[in-house]
Amino acid sequence: MIKVIKNIKVYSPKYLGVKDVVIVGNKFEGIYDSINIPTDFINVNVYDGTGKIMLPGFIDSHVHILGGGGEKGFSTRTPEMRLIDLSIAGITTVVGCLGTDNICRSMSALIAKARALEIEGLNTYCYTGSYEIPVKSLTESIKEDIMMIDKIIGLGEIALSDHRSSQPTYEEFLRAISQARVGGLLSGKSGIVNVHLGGGKQGLEYLFKIIEETEIPSTQLLPTHINRNSTLFKEGLEYVKKGGYIDLTTSSDPKHLEPGEISAGKGLKIYLDEGLPIEHITFTSDGNGSMPKFDGSGREVGIGICKVDTLYKEVKRAILEENVAIEDAIKVITSNVANILCLHNKGRIEKSMDADFVTVDENTLDIVDVFTKESFLVKDGEIKVHGVYS
Ligand code: ZN
Repeated sequence: MIKVIKNIKVYSPKYLGVKDVVIVGNKFEGIYDSINIPTDFINVNVYDGTGKIMLPGFIDSHVHILGGGGEKGFSTRTPEMRLIDLSIAGITTVVGCLGTDNICRSMSALIAKARALEIEGLNTYCYTGSYEIPVKSLTESIKEDIMMIDKIIGLGEIALSDHRSSQPTYEEFLRAISQARVGGLLSGKSGIVNVHLGGGKQGLEYLFKIIEETEIPSTQLLPTHINRNSTLFKEGLEYVKKGGYIDLTTSSDPKHLEPGEISAGKGLKIYLDEGLPIEHITFTSDGNGSMPKFDGSGREVGIGICKVDTLYKEVKRAILEENVAIEDAIKVITSNVANILCLHNKGRIEKSMDADFVTVDENTLDIVDVFTKESFLVKDGEIKVHGVYS
């Protein structure tokens, strides 16, 4: 089936101008100034893109698709994610992870969930492991999981500097990273290690040590939750200056921020004002993780749930409120993530790439359409594809 979106402003993420975009099957066939379709040509679906902006489909590389949390007892375990939670948020590719709990939640259940979301209409991947080292892999090892299981592209989220971490020694952590690296190399995947940073004193110490003292390249590691407090955020900026990559978490409750927490949109603005390279920063939502709430004096007052729709909300906020250029802001949830995760056909509107895209209103930047795998999951703001149970 051929589809043509006419007269639409295209950010590839680079701004390409007002274009006609041609999609054949699940690929972008080409981006043209203007094309005329002969009246006696084969069936083509033509859509008017006037007043809209086309962006690459969003990639959220840290989501508790199986649910997470449970840190205040069994009743606080968060629910599984539905297809429509992700699609309505513009997310066309998601990477699932476990979290603190690797007893009541398992790798086999995570992979089953990723497969279910894939069948329902999304592009899905997982990390092997949970917070803990030694890692409870599905097969004999981290390396074997990454090499032999298509869905598994890396390791994580391994927790450091957190009271819930398994408190690995530097050597234990380094050995796990090396397994992920070799598994990635041998299978043509990134083998990326997603590292959860808590609010502890240790901060990014192990990660600095790895990029300063070992041969492992900085592209192997993506530390997340770097905006959880100003000390960690400052350390994160120093880490980027040494060649590292950082990820900011978009889920936060503006009324119940953690003490010192910096919103991802604001964090991106500060990052760019420091003159740091846009390619070294990403956003993830931490969707369906549990989120403690704090009152004005920093006292914990309850528990909430992280939402995937914050991923694009924070990008939009960076554009509208922090005056970050669209083509920079959009990279943190599209091309940057695809590059770091080695998802070579994702994250760009370009000939021969997978046709995953989101259209937004050019004035409000609100999401209008979401498209992947030859289908509109969302069309004119209306959900078109529902999951089996929703
Ligand atoms: Zn985490």
